[in-house]
Amino acid sequence: MRRPFIAGNWKMYKTPAEAKTLISQLLPLLKKADIDVAVCPPFTSLETVLKLTADTVLRVGAQDVFWEEEGAYTGEISPVMLFDMGCTYCIVGHSERRQYFGETDTSVNKKVKALLKQKLIPIVCVGETLAQREEGITKEVCRLQIEQGLAGLKPEEAARLVIAYEPVWAIGTGKTASAGDAQEVIGYIREVLAARFGKESAGQIRILYGGSVKPDNIQELMAEPDIDGALVGGASLKAKDFAEIVNYKNS
Ligand code: PEP
Repeated sequence: MRRPFIAGNWKMYKTPAEAKTLISQLLPLLKKADIDVAVCPPFTSLETVLKLTADTVLRVGAQDVFWEEEGAYTGEISPVMLFDMGCTYCIVGHSERRQYFGETDTSVNKKVKALLKQKLIPIVCVGETLAQREEGITKEVCRLQIEQGLAGLKPEEAARLVIAYEPVWAIGTGKTASAGDAQEVIGYIREVLAARFGKESAGQIRILYGGSVKPDNIQELMAEPDIDGALVGGASLKAKDFAEIVNYKNS
């Protein structure tokens, strides 16, 4: 049985002071439920958020990482540093990093391996652009991103991963894939994972949907058999909206 997981991607928003306000508004709104919850603030707010969430249900992730443990890599942050701070998760291969910062499936693969080595849980993002969807190659694009991004992993390593299916055209646009469309692609991703890592491991991997998730569409997404949660961007910046999404079982 896969435990549902809702993660908030704060992107490049929230100074430490703003993060403090958001977390203190959010924590009292979270109801007890059988679900994992995390927020992924920018690097500069990680320490503040980690302090405020110690001994709470909220876990913390980073939004990116470099694959080396240390060295002359100006501007980069290593998995060792994230683990040492107390992070649990790290987003890898977000479409904004692929689009603006040259992230490739090869770099995703190195980052995933480096994170797993430090016992951090990668949240690996995959998804097609609008042009690719219109061309009818959505599944092919996701298959290649999965196969190349996760190349060389053992089944027991793969079982610890979180995958986020995020159609690029749905991110920050207000357009959401219908629950049925999201299930179709996510169900296919699980088949690809099963072919590569075996049915047992594929059955343990949590696959999230991401792309304009809001309080009013979370229920129908979570009703689908292969959708195990959501990666939430914009709505995670508002305590009330994010709490409503996390509390979807109670509403
Ligand atoms: C994201 O940043 O991963 C995301 C899904 O953003 P939004 O919810 O704003 O579409």
